[in-house]
Amino acid sequence: MNQLICNHCGKKYEMTPTLWKCDCGGVLNLVKDTLKIDIAAWDHYPNSLWRYVETMPFSKGSKTWETVTMGEGQSPLIVLDPNEPNTYVKVDYMMPTLSFKDRGAAVLMTKAKELGVSKVIADSSGNAGTAIAAYAARCGIACDIYLSDDTSPKKVAQIKAHGATIKEIHGTREDIAAAAQKAVDNENVFYASHVYNPYFFEGTKTYAYEIYEQLKGAPDALIIPVGNGTLLLGAYYGFKELFENGLIHNIPKIVAVQAKNCAPLVKAYQNAEGSASPVTNKGTLAEGIAIAAPARSKQILEAVQVTNGTFIEIEEDEILNARSKLSEKGFYVEVTSAVNLAGYMKYQKEPEETIVIPLCGAGIKSK
Ligand SMILES: *Cc1c(COP(=O)(O)O)cnc(C)c1O
Ligand SMILES: [Zn+2]
Repeated sequence: MNQLICNHCGKKYEMTPTLWKCDCGGVLNLVKDTLKIDIAAWDHYPNSLWRYVETMPFSKGSKTWETVTMGEGQSPLIVLDPNEPNTYVKVDYMMPTLSFKDRGAAVLMTKAKELGVSKVIADSSGNAGTAIAAYAARCGIACDIYLSDDTSPKKVAQIKAHGATIKEIHGTREDIAAAAQKAVDNENVFYASHVYNPYFFEGTKTYAYEIYEQLKGAPDALIIPVGNGTLLLGAYYGFKELFENGLIHNIPKIVAVQAKNCAPLVKAYQNAEGSASPVTNKGTLAEGIAIAAPARSKQILEAVQVTNGTFIEIEEDEILNARSKLSEKGFYVEVTSAVNLAGYMKYQKEPEETIVIPLCGAGIKSK
């Protein structure tokens, strides 16, 4: 259970608190036995994402999570418009820190606590930083968050409130990640990265488990915004596990959405490439998904291909239009999250197709 394997070269490592990537530069995945899902066990747990703790790589009976949880998970699944009864929004901004990142942060920080670390470092465009800062505070673990100097002030205030140290960097999202990674290596501390640390995906996979319970099966398609792919890959892994256990008959099609002004994955998909080459971010309102060089691009492209999914690109004016549409229906999301509905509006759906759209972040977090 405590082994990691490089997604690029296959080299295996024993897990340590400070190991975060392969010598070859590749991202690391958990080495896991084939999961046997015991649905009957779920009712033994509180109604949160910890209902699925037995599907996560923790030692059996481990109770660390009980001291970490803030009740994250089990977000509502709601029909957006009665005229389209097969289209649902999953209101994932109804979380302790107001974004889906709490799914990953709660699980990742539980692991950090089990490993006995005293400090973590993370870098973020905002929401992952607020989530890691909150759960680090809850664990009594010191935390430095590396951010762009133009991050939404409300997210910065939230991170500060949790007692994390803010490291503001003037530069691209990639410069910020590089600064954090350098600090991780210099200080020899735990990298609480939502991109590199595979435990984060053990949290985001509960998105799939919840939809499975709410719909009593799998939907046909998932609309998913993608920057680094933490929700996309989590959802894919979750549905894959359900499929491998014979609990569902198909893995939903993944319809991945990027902002046209920063769309390295769309470009790779269109050119039928197995991984994405870095692009230049031309500037987008969708700050939460503006990732020019996604480290897990190979896995993201595979997930979309394997599920017969597709990619959709969104123009800037479509983002604001979709945000108004959601507000008219009662949902006030942060600007990045409007990309998801914009993607749905462009998607050529089939009649009767059941579709789930996530609402990832709350409106009051936006600039
Ligand atoms: C993090 C985030 C995303 C995208 O997640 P990735 O892991 O970068 O693909 C989308 N919307 C919001 C609001 C987010 O916080
Ligand atoms: Zn490697």
